[in-house]
Amino acid sequence: MSVRLHVLSGGRLRSDKGLFTPGRDEGVREAAPVACFLIRHPQALALFDTGCHPDVATEPFKRWGGLAKAFQPEFTPEETVVPELGRVGLSPDDVDLVLCSHLHMDHCGANAFFPRATCVVHARELATARDPKSEGRGYFRADWDHALPWREVEGEQDLFGDGRVVLVPAPGHTPGTLMAAVALDRTGTVLLASDAVIVRENLDEELVPRNTWDAEVWRRSVAEVRRWQARGALVVFGHDARQWAGLRKGPDAYD
Ligand SMILES: [Zn+2]
Repeated sequence: MSVRLHVLSGGRLRSDKGLFTPGRDEGVREAAPVACFLIRHPQALALFDTGCHPDVATEPFKRWGGLAKAFQPEFTPEETVVPELGRVGLSPDDVDLVLCSHLHMDHCGANAFFPRATCVVHARELATARDPKSEGRGYFRADWDHALPWREVEGEQDLFGDGRVVLVPAPGHTPGTLMAAVALDRTGTVLLASDAVIVRENLDEELVPRNTWDAEVWRRSVAEVRRWQARGALVVFGHDARQWAGLRKGPDAYD
């Protein structure tokens, strides 16, 4: 059995596009997708990010406080990861691994729904989330602080030892951002960049998003993304509405 990759909705957020592309599209409020990815590997079922908590759709300020104004939720609870998994015939109990690109609220918001899973995270990301100064600044304890076991990684990590799913550190957006490179038989390599590359302009024009932890570190990670791209990888951006429109979704998997 080969590996399959499903693109699932984890919500949708309207924000100032200029936040991601400073000097461009300032003040233009655009709805951006929040993505989750289901990776079906013969050894395990893995989710790369869980998106927004479904309550964000109905009670945004209760979960996110003032951040719900800058990132205005525009989705229904049905457009989040658990119902999305149902559409490909799976339940949360089927998920073995939750791979966390980072611990921002729109990436790990539904982690708690996967009671059987081990959460894989970069050690520096977990340390950042645990720092009390991070609370409310993109990180919310309610999203990530659960009884689920953590597996912390530091360098590149070949998850199954067969090169099919490789976690690649790409710090800059946050201290411990991880990407996932998924090697598929037909499609080739898909690099899930998450917020290492939020929208295409960050990669093509090196526009540094305003919500960047460290711009110098970010540039080195973008150079790493370019190397993957040069080797033929399809790079999937974190929140790019135009790219999202053209991706296969749900049961229509990449293989
Ligand atoms: Zn983020």
